[in-house]
Amino acid sequence: MSRFLPTAGRIPVSGEGHARLKARWERKTGKRSRPVAPPSIHKFGGASLRDAGALAHALSIVESGDRPAVVVVSAFAGVTDALLELAGDLSRGNDAAVRRTAADLQKRYERSASAVVAAGAARQNLLAHVRRAFGELEALPSAPRMLRELSPRSIDHLLAAGEDLAARIFSAGLAARGVRSEYVSALDVIATDGRPGQASPDLASTDRRARARLRPLLSNGAVPVVPGFLGADAEGRVVTLGRGGSDLTATLLGRSLAARSVILWKDVRGFLTADPRVVPDARVIPQLNVREAAELAYYGAKVLHPRALIPAGRARIFVRPFDSSDEPGTEISGRRTLERYPVKALSAIPGQALVTVTGNGMLGVPGIAARTFGALHREGISVSLISQASSEHSICAGIPEAQADAAQKSLLEAFREEVSRREVDGVEVLRGLATISVVGLGMAGTPGIAARVFNALAPAGINVVAIAQGSSELNISFVVEATRSGEAQRRIHDAFQLSKIGGGRASAFAHTDVVLLGFGQVGRTLAGLIVRPSRRAKLRLVGAIDRGGYVFRPSGLSSRDVKDLAALKAGARSVSEKARGVVAGAREAIAALAEHALSRPILVDVTAGKTGPLLEEAVASGFDLVLANKRPLSGPRGQAEKIEHAIREGGRRLRFEATVGAGLPILDTYRKLVESGDRIVKIEGCLSGTLGFLLSEIEAGRPFSRSLREAIGRGYTEPDPRDDLSGADVGRKAVILGRLLGFRGEPEEVAVESLVPAAFRRMPLARFLERLPELDPEWAARLARARSRERRLRYVATVTRPKIRVRLVEVGPGSPFVGLRGTDNQVAFTTLRYRANPLVIQGPGAGLAVTAAGILNDVLELAGG
Ligand code: ADP
Ligand code: ASP
Ligand code: MG
Repeated sequence: MSRFLPTAGRIPVSGEGHARLKARWERKTGKRSRPVAPPSIHKFGGASLRDAGALAHALSIVESGDRPAVVVVSAFAGVTDALLELAGDLSRGNDAAVRRTAADLQKRYERSASAVVAAGAARQNLLAHVRRAFGELEALPSAPRMLRELSPRSIDHLLAAGEDLAARIFSAGLAARGVRSEYVSALDVIATDGRPGQASPDLASTDRRARARLRPLLSNGAVPVVPGFLGADAEGRVVTLGRGGSDLTATLLGRSLAARSVILWKDVRGFLTADPRVVPDARVIPQLNVREAAELAYYGAKVLHPRALIPAGRARIFVRPFDSSDEPGTEISGRRTLERYPVKALSAIPGQALVTVTGNGMLGVPGIAARTFGALHREGISVSLISQASSEHSICAGIPEAQADAAQKSLLEAFREEVSRREVDGVEVLRGLATISVVGLGMAGTPGIAARVFNALAPAGINVVAIAQGSSELNISFVVEATRSGEAQRRIHDAFQLSKIGGGRASAFAHTDVVLLGFGQVGRTLAGLIVRPSRRAKLRLVGAIDRGGYVFRPSGLSSRDVKDLAALKAGARSVSEKARGVVAGAREAIAALAEHALSRPILVDVTAGKTGPLLEEAVASGFDLVLANKRPLSGPRGQAEKIEHAIREGGRRLRFEATVGAGLPILDTYRKLVESGDRIVKIEGCLSGTLGFLLSEIEAGRPFSRSLREAIGRGYTEPDPRDDLSGADVGRKAVILGRLLGFRGEPEEVAVESLVPAAFRRMPLARFLERLPELDPEWAARLARARSRERRLRYVATVTRPKIRVRLVEVGPGSPFVGLRGTDNQVAFTTLRYRANPLVIQGPGAGLAVTAAGILNDVLELAGG
């Protein structure tokens, strides 16, 4: 509606009407606009600003929301990361990369600006800001080397552009919708201690500035838009508040303006019982006490900036789902609810180390603890956990792994005398750890919580390296090896039945994460199909693995990423060479991905390798499987059975349509027949498009040698066409079909007639191709024989439970295969119901597009159910 009410005239809709009316009256009558009703603060995170559609949604949330309102925005999704990467490239002298990133970002901001603001002066003005910001960046590489050494302060300056431009665009977007709005520089409102990269807000000064700058705007009916994450140092230069800092900007403004509510719009359904990327069963907590939330945020719950709740004051804070903006999300406030749950949530800080000061001489000596923490404090190291055995023999502290060396040095320095007197043995450092915190107000006074926590870990053999409980009894923290952190969290989540909290609303809008094993032609085609925007709600391509390593993007690869990967592969390189790619073996890759608690993950095998054992492991780590690779199921029986066993044991699912008929619904038909109570007696099929084509050519009267060359020329054959002619490929398909019917033999027991005479099997390919014409007479004779009996030549697999045969046969008018032409495949099911007249499926059985579509079908089927 505000679209039609260009400026101040908004009619109060709900309860807080009085103050609003008063403000309007004062405005109209020219009186000073003093008291403003408590505003709502809306904060939009990067994920809520991922593209033009999301931006439009954010704008309409504000447009249709209550007034007064203040908006805080972070940079668009991924921008801060990109700018940091750019800073790195800049200092490494990677000028081409700097220009490329800057140009990409500029384009992205320009596109967003044009998407929300119609052509005209306002848009020109915005575009000029964008150009100026990035012009500065692009000029940097030509600066003298010295100037490019980036200090933390200049990095902050660089990063600031991300949120600053986002705020300008947001504000212009509101104005374009007829909502009076003004961009407000963060420097005008957020005062800090000036520490670059990690600035702490100065609350009193921020209160003063924010009120002075924002209240007049609010009382004028305007919606101020403030860039998050940024603040001013004493000289008025920009600094950042630490990663995720726009949450903090929002709560700061909430405090200064005595806001009615602070709404943090996120890409999750609310504050969850655990990080959903680690614990798939995580649930939305309807209400959290502000102390609990602060504890969780401080101890690594990535959903809020660690210090976001310090200035919370009395404002109620809501973590709400951007994609489903009518859902309530989580309320964070002074209330205490859900008392049945002594533990409400858990969180983890990865990348931790433990420093331990030990020594007999520490016994009873006062001040050791104080000196320990003094020494850490001097280095600016934040301590996540402290524990001292009551024997006072040792004292240890959990700290960020990256600061372990500095900590050790500082402690050794602090205790130099004691060490020389042998009162302190030394300072030990243990790396590769994670601190897990279990949080809930109800823990105080409920006995046995710690026991439940550790009992959950013991059966899995997860070793607890250190434990601490604050006297508030709000939090139990403990340290485990980082590699066991995910499992530890899942076990504790189960032990406290957190998946039932508040009715158990699932953490995410169920989607399916797909990982491709193999990124060849078929893999790339498939990847392109999966990342289409229309599928995004349902499927996410999160990773690709090849011989060189893997790439992994928990939030999904974009179509741009897929293009980049395809380009790499086309240049015979590995997906691991993409930005943030990892060089690793396939096993390691699967293990690394499995650590991430993907959402209903599917591994798609589009390799041609012997991947059986790998697939078993993937299944054990929770993956469903879709195979286009025939080998795992058509090799030794023991291997195929192991995979099936793993699938059954793990309650997982397996689809392999593309192994037999590419995109043809052969296995699908098989399943439906069986499910409807039919019994399959025999499956016969022409299962090779290559051989189908060859035989059609020969029947049309062309010599064998010429026909085969034609097939090669059209790309219908394997690199060595003898792989097709030998029947090995058809044999594999036949074994897969046979095993469906209960065939229990080994592949060697399958009688496959090779169309390559023995003498031709071992010679080099070139020689074979040269000598092809020698084979023509025999083919001509075969054809003549068949013709004389009015029959045709077909390469047919005949599959029954006891026996599988693959051979060249003559088929007569009664056979379904008579009419088959070209590269088509055909399969005939003889069943109890279709006995006299078999059920026939026919169509193209090879080719990139149909194969990829066949695989996608399997994937979608698993994703749908
Ligand atoms: P924003 O878009 O506001 O910057 P973030 O990406 O900072 O949002 O925070 C949301 C992310 O935090 C979620 O995608 C989720 O994966 C992660 N997360 C970690 N722990 C939790 C938790 N306990 N509840 C909700 N989300 C969590
Ligand atoms: N854009 C900043 C970051 O990515 C701040 C934020 O998102 O809150 O950390
Ligand atoms: Mg964030």
